[in-house]
Amino acid sequence: MSDTILETAGLTREFRGFVAVNDVSLHVAAGTIHALIGPNGAGKTTCFNLLTKFLAPTRGSIRFKGRDITRMSPAAVARLGLVRSFQISAVFPHLSALENVRMALQRGRGASFDFWRSDRTLARYDDRARELLFDVGLTGYADTQAGELSYGRKRALEIATTLALEPEMMLLDEPTAGMTHEDVDRIVQLVRRIRGGRTILMVEHNLSVVEGLCDRITVLTRGRILAEGDYATVSAHPEVIAAYLGS
Ligand code: ADP
Repeated sequence: MSDTILETAGLTREFRGFVAVNDVSLHVAAGTIHALIGPNGAGKTTCFNLLTKFLAPTRGSIRFKGRDITRMSPAAVARLGLVRSFQISAVFPHLSALENVRMALQRGRGASFDFWRSDRTLARYDDRARELLFDVGLTGYADTQAGELSYGRKRALEIATTLALEPEMMLLDEPTAGMTHEDVDRIVQLVRRIRGGRTILMVEHNLSVVEGLCDRITVLTRGRILAEGDYATVSAHPEVIAAYLGS
């Protein structure tokens, strides 16, 4: 059994009395790809917002690498190595793919821009940015304006800018949403390629992506954990089948 890297205890978020996330105790093992699935309105996005500190919990706690991050700022959490894709790294459409990644490298994990680095440092940023573009399959698009990239490639670029922050754990919010089959396959391969020793928690609607990619799955419905386990276990759960068919 691997070590837990991210853990919540009794995580709860209410919106004016409506309980969107209800007593969720989630354990994500280090080095795994873990999916958070569930019908619309199940509380997945709220959960992500709680984990990255964009929302404060009403009750409960969150630990990352053994540290209580419940009251930390989003920037402090990112500096610890828990980074949500697109969190800090919105793609700038008028900059090239390379410039976008270079900017993310310059900024680092929540640090402010430093425009006064030496030429040598800047050249290193460029080398690293090219490596990251290679990792996400965008080698041929370094000089293309981000706004001109296809939707699938934009998502790949967003992942590259997130990787620039060297996250130990990445949160991916529906990485394949709205993609063509071809782009979905590309993202699946990309996630496999970038996982390295990283932990990835993703919200994903496409169950074949979840099946092909994820080691462990947590199913949420109406804010609560309904089932947990590997794909075979979770997909055989009668209430999971009902929740999906009934949604
Ligand atoms: P999911 O991502 O699984 O579709 P969400 O986390 O977006 O679910 O939403 C869970 C529930 O919480 C929904 O019923 C949604 O309407 C409600 N909700 C989410 N954010 C807010 C908010 N800011 N104010 C009020 N209700 C909210």
